[in-house]
Amino acid sequence: AIADYDDNNIFARILRGEIPNKTVYEDQWALAFHDINPQAPVHVLVIPKGRYVSWADFSKQASTEEVAGFVRAVGTVGEMLGLEAPGYRLLANAGLDAHQEVPHLHVHIFGGRKLGPMLV
Ligand code: 5GP
Repeated sequence: AIADYDDNNIFARILRGEIPNKTVYEDQWALAFHDINPQAPVHVLVIPKGRYVSWADFSKQASTEEVAGFVRAVGTVGEMLGLEAPGYRLLANAGLDAHQEVPHLHVHIFGGRKLGPMLV
């Protein structure tokens, strides 16, 4: 829940400009930047600017505009990166079982090569 949001998590610090990032796209709702440890030729993270840990938090607490802004940012970034035609993969790790390492909601965008089969 937002009450549990850790303002010192690494993405909160990136949003405050305390840690540098390679920004791909930014608007009032979202920030997209290159992952520091890329797992594909293109590996970008898209995060909402609001303080959300989980999809439950985001779905309950974010305004309709904010939800729309975040989803639009994901689509915009995929297109900006030239991935619309070749294709790409979105992935979101949520919680312990999925090894969510950073407790700020994020979506991974993978692309730039033929990707393997989806792994669970
Ligand atoms: P998760 O496992 O939480 O879904 O993924 C977190 C991602 O954040 C990982 O892919 C990791 O490489 C990335 N990451 C962690 N710290 C930093 C950082 O300081 N800067 C950037 N750009 N990415 C980071």
